[in-house]
Amino acid sequence: MTHPDSEEVETLVKDGVLQLLLEQSSDALVVVDVTGRVLAFNREAGLHFRMSRPERAEHGWLPGCVWMRADDASMSVEVPPLARALTGERVAESRWRVRRPDGTQLVMRASAMPLGTPEGLAAGALLRAREEAVPSGLDAVDSTRLLAEAGALLGAAFDEAAAPQLLRLLVPALGEAAVLYLGAPGEPPRPVAALHTDAQRHAMLEEVLRDYLLPPERVLPLFGLGQLERLHVTEAQLDAAARDATHARLLKGLGPCTYLGVPLVARERVIGTLALFRCDAARDFSAEEVRLAEEVARRTALSVDNAQLLQEAREAVRLRDEFLGIASHELKTPLTPLHLKVQLLQRQVDGLAAHQQPVSAERVSETLDVVQRQVRKLTTLVDNLLDVSRITAGRLRLEVEELDLASVAADILFRFAPSASQLQCELELHAPVPVMGRWDRLRLEQVVTNLLSNALKYGAGHPVRVVVESEGLTARVTVRDGGIGISAEDLPRIFERFERAVSDRHYGGLGLGLYITRQIVEAFGGTVRATSEPGQGSLFVLELPRGDIPEEWLVGHSAPEPSPV
Ligand code: ADP
Repeated sequence: MTHPDSEEVETLVKDGVLQLLLEQSSDALVVVDVTGRVLAFNREAGLHFRMSRPERAEHGWLPGCVWMRADDASMSVEVPPLARALTGERVAESRWRVRRPDGTQLVMRASAMPLGTPEGLAAGALLRAREEAVPSGLDAVDSTRLLAEAGALLGAAFDEAAAPQLLRLLVPALGEAAVLYLGAPGEPPRPVAALHTDAQRHAMLEEVLRDYLLPPERVLPLFGLGQLERLHVTEAQLDAAARDATHARLLKGLGPCTYLGVPLVARERVIGTLALFRCDAARDFSAEEVRLAEEVARRTALSVDNAQLLQEAREAVRLRDEFLGIASHELKTPLTPLHLKVQLLQRQVDGLAAHQQPVSAERVSETLDVVQRQVRKLTTLVDNLLDVSRITAGRLRLEVEELDLASVAADILFRFAPSASQLQCELELHAPVPVMGRWDRLRLEQVVTNLLSNALKYGAGHPVRVVVESEGLTARVTVRDGGIGISAEDLPRIFERFERAVSDRHYGGLGLGLYITRQIVEAFGGTVRATSEPGQGSLFVLELPRGDIPEEWLVGHSAPEPSPV
């Protein structure tokens, strides 16, 4: 083909002959002059490049189209064939991925040639392109490379800062837009990164995610299922999903036609979703693309899970170290007076013996009282530690017998009476009728003791009221104090191991009492919960199933008067 010169082209355009010639071809053809003015284009070109009238192709860039090389895996934006032809280069046919003004993409084989002037300078250029039917948007090289890059990016443990880069690998290779959602099981998922190929639509996507995040109940059914989802989204569906007119406009502006939601699953829990959107209705996700998205999601889930495990392990080590510090301090506290008292006793006995005088039984008894109190404290601490290791190893054994919870509580309150008066706490028990059930006596005592000793410890100077009652097959103990209370943010963690909501400078303790309490209560099949207001006191409610008890225990007993202790 010889190069027609610019005047010849102009004449051909004017006469409409060029148009006629271009329409003969099944390829997309575009002719521009040296200034980038589109002189003519055929129907195919109009369809492919979304052109409805001859516009300007500044410097050989067709309006709104981005050209990326598709014959290597780099996907870099490059100078398109038409622009190169305008500089006089004859551009041989090669593979290109073209992103069109509406955000959709297609793969094309394109070549271009300069239209010469008699002096040999380019007076214009001709672009020839034809769509390549690709079974999937990715070839084997792309997928391998994408997975390798994703693997390198994710590393062993996921860092949220890498999420946008991860999406950059997937967009536009797997879709025009992607959103990565993460959320612990049972929590509403939150978008950690979002990307759209088109800058304007990217802003819209961010707006939708920021202002119109789906309410958890709408997202969770999909999220919780942990199954791959593939939807063709219609305008009517977008209208139905939109919460207001702005939302509808944004959703339609994004124009997702096909949605692919791949769950992120780790250790059989759904921890997120990788959402991919494809705007070109004609291009569904191929089986190969779905497989690739699943593989990326699998690797992401693994890396997210690793990061979570690492975080948990670090936290566990931190808690253990903190606990060891507190435990040594707590174990040492009773040892000091114990040591002093024994030393003192020893000196007294030695001194008196030296003068052959009898030792005063009263003095010895007083000292031994202190010794015994401290030994009891140490025993409780060590017992608690042993209980925790028993619970952790799953060796908590219950010996069930028939008991009256009301009298168990009364006994414990009686035992606590001296320390309550020392702490200036008025102790009140309301247990009008026996509450029979089948429980382990020692463990039941331990639970009530823990709740009561906490009420006295954190409620010193205020009254403490204990109520024992039953409702059908459930027995209930409530312990109310008027002490320091617990803040809303601390409430959920006080039943955890080693967790404390107070400073160890003000209150001694290992942070194990409530943990052990909850474990025992759960072993009984019951529940224990707390409500509190800082500065207003706390209410602990213990509910226990009464077990397999005879019917007559369920009927009311004569109610004795409430007994203040
Ligand atoms: P501790 O040995 O620290 O008392 P617990 O497991 O018994 O350990 O309690 C855990 C934490 O819960 C305590 O450190 C305290 O912050 C809070 N707590 C428990 N009971 C009460 C209460 N009645 N009033 C206020 N805070 C309480």
